[in-house]
Amino acid sequence: MALEQHEIDALREAPVARGRNFISGDWRDSQGGGEIEVVSPGTGRAFTTIVDSSEADAREAIRAARASFDGGAWSRTAPAQRKAVLFRLAALIERHALELAVLGVRDNGTEISMAYGAEPGSAAATFRFYAEALDKIHGDITPTPSAILSLIHREPVGVVGAIVPWNFPLMIGAWKVAPALAAGNSVVLKPSEHASLTLLRLAELAVQAGVPPGVLNVVTGQGATAGRAIGLSHDVDVLTFTGSGAVGRHLLRYAADSNFKQVHLELGGKSPNVVFEDCGDLADVARQSARGIFANSGQVCVAGSRLLVQERIYDEFVAEMAAQARATVVGDPLSLSSQVGAIGTALQLEKNQDFVERAVAAGDRVAAGGSRMAREGFFFEPTVIEAASRDSPLVREEVFGPVLAVQRFRDEDEAVRLANDSVYGLASGVWTQNIGRAHRMVRRLQAGVVHVNCYGGADITAPLVGQKQSGNGFDRSLAALEKYQKRKTAWIRIEP
Ligand code: NAD
Repeated sequence: MALEQHEIDALREAPVARGRNFISGDWRDSQGGGEIEVVSPGTGRAFTTIVDSSEADAREAIRAARASFDGGAWSRTAPAQRKAVLFRLAALIERHALELAVLGVRDNGTEISMAYGAEPGSAAATFRFYAEALDKIHGDITPTPSAILSLIHREPVGVVGAIVPWNFPLMIGAWKVAPALAAGNSVVLKPSEHASLTLLRLAELAVQAGVPPGVLNVVTGQGATAGRAIGLSHDVDVLTFTGSGAVGRHLLRYAADSNFKQVHLELGGKSPNVVFEDCGDLADVARQSARGIFANSGQVCVAGSRLLVQERIYDEFVAEMAAQARATVVGDPLSLSSQVGAIGTALQLEKNQDFVERAVAAGDRVAAGGSRMAREGFFFEPTVIEAASRDSPLVREEVFGPVLAVQRFRDEDEAVRLANDSVYGLASGVWTQNIGRAHRMVRRLQAGVVHVNCYGGADITAPLVGQKQSGNGFDRSLAALEKYQKRKTAWIRIEP
């Protein structure tokens, strides 16, 4: 359904109740924790608060999840029943799509034109996908001698801890919660302290859809308290995480220091977008490449933040990219006329400025943008910077902002060398009209996804798998259900 500005405007100032934790199907105040102001990146002003959970709050949520799992109201219910409930949840998300989208944009500043489809839209599709799948995946009988019957059962793992970032919280939260619930688990979800509101609402809708109390619990607050308590818990069986590598390392340590829980990490990227001289229409490639880095102010894990351009078209293409950056309409994230919204937090805004200053100090050249915008809220200009060397901080480190580093290459081999010269391996793009080259590049690039003659775009059917330091796991696809199942063998002697 097409979005209407007047419908968005009717919700933009709607009062938002103080966020509390959602545990055992009920709102709970914190035991000993504080509160965190929720500041809207589009205005720079606070509009509600959430709970800054204590470790005790996280433990209470974990106890609720364990009790619900052991109680069996969800974990042992018939698959057809779980399916019906998750279908109802998908329908409820759709029914509340506009409300969820506006709430999410007020919380994290993503442009509404993108957030509407990417957040409630893909969350609903995700719940529906795993609901459809849950009774199509089953155990096996293995080929044993005739005296033995060997059955491989697939069981839910138990309590799933899910920790998610502030960009696309509803979509990424659904990528974890939907398969975990579909497999029969109970979940403790910790959203980012910078974007919790839509996931609190999701938990409420889940109970309305028929998910039993205690099966989906949400605790808000800081990573170092609530997140750490989930990571260190002996009662969490699997931890699924999306966020930065620095936090990913903590989580692996927590697992080692507690119960060896499995830890699935979906981490950051510094993704190369490789433009060959035979790419076709330069203006169109530049337009799509600009979307690939500037959408959601570059706060997209797969953003094409390194642009590699073949030398013969280099000057013309960089000029085109700079023009695209300048022409990008950045503004009120709740306005349909904004192509790009706000930076997620004040800290992240400073980080963008700091990166540009370090880049300039390292000898890089600013071709467009480079500064914070003079308006209330947190906004940064779409920025194009020619890197002086492969050691520029912009080439090596994830900015997570609308800042593009450009490098030049001579031929295919050099393009591959530069593209793979990164500790990350999340996404990539290739633009060429040469089909052989396109397939060679897909084989040679070290990345979980290679976009060919497009940048970005994905759906729930295909996994997003991090290579190298972009993670050890993946979300999406049928295979992701298995993250939340364990196998058990029944070895039965049936002949004497
Ligand atoms: P972050 O790592 O700072 O925080 C992510 C989550 O971890 C938050 O909920 C936070 O509270 C929690 N956390 C922080 N410290 C913790 C600790 N010590 N123990 C447990 N939990 C802790 O990341 P962010 O700034 O919210 O998100 C941006 C990062 O996420 C970027 O690196 C981006 O590339 C990455 N990301 C990856 C994907 C993907 O699919 N691979 C998708 C989106 C974002």
